[in-house]
Amino acid sequence: MLGLMQDSPLLISGLIEFAARHHHDTEIVSRRVEGDLHRTTYAQVGARARQVANALDRLGLAFSDRVGTLAWNGYRHLELYYGVSGSGRVVHTINPRLSPEQVVWIANHAEDQVLCFDMSFLPIIKAAWSKCTTVKHWIALCDADALPADTGIPGLRSYEAWIGGESEQYAWPSFDERSAAALCYTSGTTGNPKGVLYSHRSTLLHAWGIALPDSLGISARDCVLPVVPMFHVNAWGLPYAAAMTGTKLVFPGAALDGKSVYELIEAEKVTMSAGVPTVWLMLLNHLKANDLQFSTMTRTVIGGSACPPAMIKSFRDDYDVTVLHAWGMTEMSPVGTVCKLKLKHLEMDPAAQLGVLIKQGRSVFGAEMKIVDPDGRELPWDGATSGDLLVRGPWIVSSYFKGEGGDPLVDGWFPTGDVATIDPDGFLQITDRSKDVIKSGGEWISSIDVENIAVAHPAVAMAACIAIAHPKWDERPMLVVVKKPGAELSREAMLAHFEGKLAKWQVPDDVVFVEAIPLGATGKMQKNKLREQFKDYRLPGA
Ligand code: AMP
Repeated sequence: MLGLMQDSPLLISGLIEFAARHHHDTEIVSRRVEGDLHRTTYAQVGARARQVANALDRLGLAFSDRVGTLAWNGYRHLELYYGVSGSGRVVHTINPRLSPEQVVWIANHAEDQVLCFDMSFLPIIKAAWSKCTTVKHWIALCDADALPADTGIPGLRSYEAWIGGESEQYAWPSFDERSAAALCYTSGTTGNPKGVLYSHRSTLLHAWGIALPDSLGISARDCVLPVVPMFHVNAWGLPYAAAMTGTKLVFPGAALDGKSVYELIEAEKVTMSAGVPTVWLMLLNHLKANDLQFSTMTRTVIGGSACPPAMIKSFRDDYDVTVLHAWGMTEMSPVGTVCKLKLKHLEMDPAAQLGVLIKQGRSVFGAEMKIVDPDGRELPWDGATSGDLLVRGPWIVSSYFKGEGGDPLVDGWFPTGDVATIDPDGFLQITDRSKDVIKSGGEWISSIDVENIAVAHPAVAMAACIAIAHPKWDERPMLVVVKKPGAELSREAMLAHFEGKLAKWQVPDDVVFVEAIPLGATGKMQKNKLREQFKDYRLPGA
């Protein structure tokens, strides 16, 4: 016997119509590429998303056709999110930090029909357009009078001219909620990038999941500033969850330095923000150097790579801001776990609480997880045994776009490539990427543990721990360090800093100082490049 409840599809158009009706005057504030601060509302975003949908109809785009974007976080990008997906097409966010060749490869693989870009990315488009074989329409996200005359890009139009004449009325179509809504390519440290194709259903369920109180927990009393880009896993789903909950949004555009982000947080009374650790490092440096405090921000979501415990502690003890350490992947929409204390932790002293808060957190309902040994046997949740982490759930990938790479699942579970422990309370702690783990004499050393201790040293700006081949131990850890500008630090002082913090055999055998550590397009350290660079390195005594 089936239940007798209505069965309306979960569609992205429903989110913006809800926000436009129930939170019509809630603001969306954007720092624009043009330099000014732009203000709009959910009602206006809804109206302009309908204009986008009409404009796409006029171009003759079919259901599921892809519309690429190369854009910062801003209101026009938000309108595209809703207008493109809501009308049944697929919004394909491209990472502008990729090279023009990679942009071309991805746009061709996705078969983008339209490409909308911020004017700051005009140089990429100029280098790429003639090789993008499927793109028929180029749209610059600017006013008509801001469009240069001589770009050489055929038929280039401004966004405002493109949608300006269209009606603000649009009957959003109803269709299968499992239809594709958004496409995002994984960073792909090896081989070609692979496309993850989110559905309307997965996007709405994920938005519900991340809005939960023990998840990111956002509401109509919040003002959220996503520093995490809308081209990196849909800004972790915040543009959708914000419309679902009527949250005010503040978009930082291209200005991601500590000073600009801080000023925006204060001016707009931001209560929560979200981004990768490197962004918060810039913000904390700015606060420290200028002796500043936050007046409204109470929490910040940090994920994408491991957040050093020193950063979590500094936010809490120096600035009264709770870090919500979160873990996920492009393949997971992206949120899998978020770190929030349970009732029983509230009576602990602050030092013991910190021991919990540094972990990647508990599973959000909808993202099931397990850890397994190399034979696929499930391992205990004892907080000590580490194993390969697998996940499953309704917002987790089942197959890559166009079936690239074959079936990624193992018995219905997605192998994350991360190595983790899970404690009896369900708190996940990522110890490594499986490719980064260091195997010394049959024991595993967590490169993340070593790096977290290293970056707590006041002279260290960035640190990566990599495996170096060793005749006796197979592999031994080596630390690659970028010093803070003007800071003094010797190899011996760096190694002495580990005393008492790690077992002796886990301490790196050597330290190398470099000017910079290579970062990927999403700001993560590219340890595979470092391993390549140091592949012939001889450790002392080896
Ligand atoms: P991406 O798909 O580019 O977002 O990368 C996902 C990968 O980033 C995960 O598989 C992890 O290896 C890493 N990652 C994300 N969040 C965290 C975190 N909080 N701590 C450690 N690693 C993380």
